[in-house]
Amino acid sequence: MEPGKAILGSQDGESLVDADSVILCVSYRAEKSLYEACKNKLPEVRLIGDANNVSNIMYAIWDAYEVASTL
Ligand SMILES: Cc1cc2nc3c(=O)[nH]c(=O)nc-3n(C[C@H](O)[C@H](O)[C@H](O)COP(=O)(O)OP(=O)(O)OC[C@H]3O[C@@H](n4cnc5c(N)ncnc54)[C@H](O)[C@@H]3O)c2cc1C
Repeated sequence: MEPGKAILGSQDGESLVDADSVILCVSYRAEKSLYEACKNKLPEVRLIGDANNVSNIMYAIWDAYEVASTL
């Protein structure tokens, strides 16, 4: 990558633009496909963490702790 430049990708292809910073945006939608694929095939499947509700690392750890403490 050229210093001071960023590559913009779109449906029309890629273009090189002047940029001194790049801001990354990610979605906040839970990704549950692995859970959906497993839940009726395995005896005990739990949905925890961001897959259940996108939040932060503390919620993911608390979810895991709750499951682990009831095993
Ligand atoms: C850019 C960014 C910055 C963040 N900064 C902070 C922060 O500063 N502080 C904070 O507390 N939280 C932060 N978070 C949120 C935090 O990262 C998440 O809440 C936390 O990682 C959720 O943990 P998790 O174990 O539920 O999911 P993840 O950490 O996402 O772990 C899920 C794992 O499952 C794997 N996986 C998914 N689907 C499949 C599949 N089909 N087969 C096999 N493996 C699969 C993934 O590759 C991943 O390794 C940030 C999140 C992002 C995106």
